[in-house]
Amino acid sequence: MNAIILLGAPGSGKGTEAKLLAGRLGVPHVSTGEMLRERLRQGIGVGTAVSGAMLAGALVADGVVNRLVEERLGEPDAARGFILDGYPRTVAQAESLREWLRVRGVSEVVIHLVIDYNIVIARLTNRRQCLRCGTVYNLISKPPSRDELCDLDGEKLAMREDDAEPVIRERLEAYERQTSPVLAWYREAGTRVLDVDGDGSPEAVFVRICQAMGVG
Ligand code: AMP
Repeated sequence: MNAIILLGAPGSGKGTEAKLLAGRLGVPHVSTGEMLRERLRQGIGVGTAVSGAMLAGALVADGVVNRLVEERLGEPDAARGFILDGYPRTVAQAESLREWLRVRGVSEVVIHLVIDYNIVIARLTNRRQCLRCGTVYNLISKPPSRDELCDLDGEKLAMREDDAEPVIRERLEAYERQTSPVLAWYREAGTRVLDVDGDGSPEAVFVRICQAMGVG
């Protein structure tokens, strides 16, 4: 069993690629961002430090996220492996995850999506998400067939609140300051890190990921 960890800046395509990979490998896609947003939709944590951090483009406290992830990875569908998207984002999270995996004899592989920040900003400002089913669109590269309505359920599409340009800048800064050291930490520890060019269509990037991983 393997833990596949997708690392990359906001907008590098982690969520999209994690979904494709989860479909191919038949293991769950675990996104801390989605889990946190789902909790807010259910009214859990609204008006707390968690929602405050998310709206400001800052990171949620390590303890909160570590607990969420451990609960999720303990579920039966994760017993054969899983894909982590948006976690770990700090060295403290990476250490906590490593310990959890070590106890269970799970090995790690990191996929690092490499992308230029100018592309990231263009992608995020054009990103829209269905408010009901969560399907992600891009007004330029993957537009819905009807004006800002979801193709699957007709629900209105919306911009994520943290995709506003000033918040994007904060998120990129958080990535540089707190998450890029995680990449260095994995490399120093000798973990298998696969650097994959994240530019291009989701399908083209997916082909590169599969090649790098040796997945047919
Ligand atoms: P994402 O959907 O991965 O871009 O995450 C959206 C927001 O959720 C981030 O900007 C953070 O505020 C929060 N978040 C998601 N994952 C983590 C994490 N591993 N550690 C801390 N905060 C996180």
